[in-house]
Amino acid sequence: MLTVEEALEQILSRGKVLPTERVPILSALGRALAEPIVSHREIPPWPNSSMDGYAVRAADTRGAPARLAVVGTIAAGSIPSRVVAAGEAMRIFTGAPLPEGADSVVPQEDTDAADGHVTLKHVVDHGAYVRPRGEDLRVGDAVLSPGAVLGPAEIGLLATLGHSQVFVHRRPRVAILSTGNELAELGREPGPGQIPNTNSYSLFAQVVEAGAEPINLGIAADRLESIEERLRWGGAADVLLSSAGVSVGDLDFVKAAFTRAGAELHLWQVSMRPGKPITFGSLGGRPVFGLPGNPVSAMVTFELFVRPALRRMAGYTAIHRLRIRARALAPIGNPGFRRGYLRVTLARDRDGWGARLTGDQGSAILTSMVRADGLAIVQGDTTIKEGEGVEVLLFRDLETHSV
Ligand code: AMP
Ligand code: MG
Repeated sequence: MLTVEEALEQILSRGKVLPTERVPILSALGRALAEPIVSHREIPPWPNSSMDGYAVRAADTRGAPARLAVVGTIAAGSIPSRVVAAGEAMRIFTGAPLPEGADSVVPQEDTDAADGHVTLKHVVDHGAYVRPRGEDLRVGDAVLSPGAVLGPAEIGLLATLGHSQVFVHRRPRVAILSTGNELAELGREPGPGQIPNTNSYSLFAQVVEAGAEPINLGIAADRLESIEERLRWGGAADVLLSSAGVSVGDLDFVKAAFTRAGAELHLWQVSMRPGKPITFGSLGGRPVFGLPGNPVSAMVTFELFVRPALRRMAGYTAIHRLRIRARALAPIGNPGFRRGYLRVTLARDRDGWGARLTGDQGSAILTSMVRADGLAIVQGDTTIKEGEGVEVLLFRDLETHSV
């Protein structure tokens, strides 16, 4: 059986980065940048004041207190009308260009103004409260590289540099298919022997969260033709994602349906718990994943294999979840020889992050997924004792859990 690393390597080695598209910067949040951004501007474009006060020549304040003649006012959005000569000051506001002749700004709080003059109480350092030209960006500075995630700061930077549009990678379109005779669709009360369809919805949400676009192919019955037909509906997608029907049961037709639809299967079964029966292949150059059916197994295999693949396709350079070391707050046991990905909740105390199992680790116990902040990675037949360290793959931002 393949290890998680071997399977992931096979999957990632087949993931092709999708083509680029040009979008307005306000639609680019969370997308992967597809072009290098080089500054063609000096930011700020000229030296300017970082305070409301007076633009002065520092040398004039050497014998402070100093009394200077106020020869004008300069506000943000205008340009100075004259130079500042020796013995002179100019009223200036935050963001206004520093007038020629002046080299420093004295904050208003450190001055007394009367009769067209201003008195400075203290000696002023040369350059005080002046933001020099180009202190943030110089012409030619390489500011963003392809593959960067565009967050609010990056979008602000693009605006600063005058980009109203930007090249990003296309988001992968992911067709999601649930399989199983027992599944009742949302909106219908499950009949006798039926269970609610969960996976279509959790996987849909995981696809969105990964930065991709889901397409819901609904539910296929446990019949080869039914699965194959629905797979064909997903023809426009970049990735096909099914759940259930990949084990060894008599009604597990997903692998056969993938093959009938023309897919080549590259792997089946990975040494992990939950999620062992995952299948991966390609269909006309597109990745196809057959995830296990139990709701937690489907989600965990999505996290470990599908999410990094989607992020690679979407052009991100950072494709993996953050992993941290935490301390077991109670024993974390992994019976069985397969590597365990165990649902844990994290809490922070003086000694750092502590991890605790969320409860029953059954692969159908979705509530213990709801409580989880991440997955503790534990080798087979191993128990992490209380106080020992364990690696945890994070689902969420930790700042939401600080105490
Ligand atoms: P299978 O691999 O088809 O045997 O499915 C494994 C388990 O997952 C069974 O208990 C199924 O009923 C359950 N299951 C399969 N698909 C879904 C789904 N879409 N939502 C919730 N449970 C499912
Ligand atoms: Mg089934």
